Amino acid sequence: MECIFCKIARKEIPAQVIYEDMHAVGFLDRDPRAAGHTLIVPNRHAETILDLQGGEVGTLFSAVREITALLKKSLHADGFTIGINHGVVAGQAVSHLHVHVIPRFMGDHGTSIHAVITNPPAESVEAIAKKIMALN
Ligand code: 5GP
Ligand code: ZN
Repeated sequence: MECIFCKIARKEIPAQVIYEDMHAVGFLDRDPRAAGHTLIVPNRHAETILDLQGGEVGTLFSAVREITALLKKSLHADGFTIGINHGVVAGQAVSHLHVHVIPRFMGDHGTSIHAVITNPPAESVEAIAKKIMALN
């Protein structure tokens, strides 16, 4: 498959791989927002978490946990921003699911994930909850 992250997972193109297990690989982002900025991808091509099946969600997030622990220990990160640009509208540029783990350091002048979007609904939170739960 002509997918850059599939190729990294298969070791067909180089990357700074810092973690791998049976199901996932973690490698450094080539354009890091902070030291240790890592991308974790499932070995099997999937575009979003909605394309994962059964235990694949669990194995991916186990890898995220391992990598977060590794970065905390090795780089002495004070915290992390962990997130997915999920879908083109959310800024997903590579169509192979990847979880960003970005180490955060005291005084790094970064902000929180809330800074990504300011688009509050006109309806109340209760009305939105009703809409969501109506399908459950
Ligand atoms: P997205 O916006 O899809 O969440 O982010 C894609 C990320 O992948 C970007 O941060 C970009 O720097 C990184 N990236 C894209 N192509 C490559 C690559 O070939 N190698 C590595 N290591 N990172 C990549
Ligand atoms: Zn892929």
